[in-house]
Amino acid sequence: MPLLKVDNLHIAYGAVKALHGVSLAVEAGEILTLIGCNGAGKTTTLRGISGMVRPRQGTVEFDGQSIVGVPPHQLVRRGLVHVPEGRGIFANLTVEENLDLGAFTRTDTAGIAADRERALTLFPRVKERLRQLAGTLSGGEQQMLAIARALLARPKLLLLDEPSLGLAPQLVQTIFAIIREINSQGVTILLVEQNANMALHVAHRAVVLETGAVRMAGPAAELAASDEVRKAYLGHG
Ligand code: ATP
Repeated sequence: MPLLKVDNLHIAYGAVKALHGVSLAVEAGEILTLIGCNGAGKTTTLRGISGMVRPRQGTVEFDGQSIVGVPPHQLVRRGLVHVPEGRGIFANLTVEENLDLGAFTRTDTAGIAADRERALTLFPRVKERLRQLAGTLSGGEQQMLAIARALLARPKLLLLDEPSLGLAPQLVQTIFAIIREINSQGVTILLVEQNANMALHVAHRAVVLETGAVRMAGPAAELAASDEVRKAYLGHG
């Protein structure tokens, strides 16, 4: 049984139909990447999964249970945590306060402290800036803080929306290495990326979205080698 199963998802914003019957499954332990052009529906798929928008049609099952209509904060409690595009950092709170908010669903003080230490080990830049206001961090540092904060909810499944967006090339490498490390610590990841090259490199499997529908799906290495993907998404002729 997959950890997440999305079946025939239809989502519209008013008259704009963003998804027309998207189906995908994420197996426990894997990194699945969702790639596609601007406007293909990647962000909308994540929003439909995490309860930020309500599907018109379709089912979403997490850990064997239907989660359509379950509010996002309850999903966090169950282990499904979404790091949205734009990151959702509270600029007027300190880095430390932002981080602490990630553990809002938990009361196990010792466990929280251990997870906090583990997250800060992954993100030493965040650790150096704990007392700073989060709004003073660079874009890359805010991204790291957003992921570190998500880890404090102890996710089973992490939905990451464009973690590499707007980062300096060196930081892009770092973020992907960290994503792999988080996965190797046992967190299943659904990764939305514009950077298809890096995403296919880090992921086990991939789904290609085109105008709100699944165009291709398969092992990431196979898609990375396919002529169609190379031409359309990897910039190879
Ligand atoms: P991007 O990489 O640009 O975020 P995406 O693949 O994530 O692209 P979505 O953001 O999911 O795509 O958008 C899918 C479609 O839904 C697009 O046609 C977009 O214009 C439309 N859309 C997205 N958000 C809204 C909204 N809040 N109101 C109206 N239309 C929207």
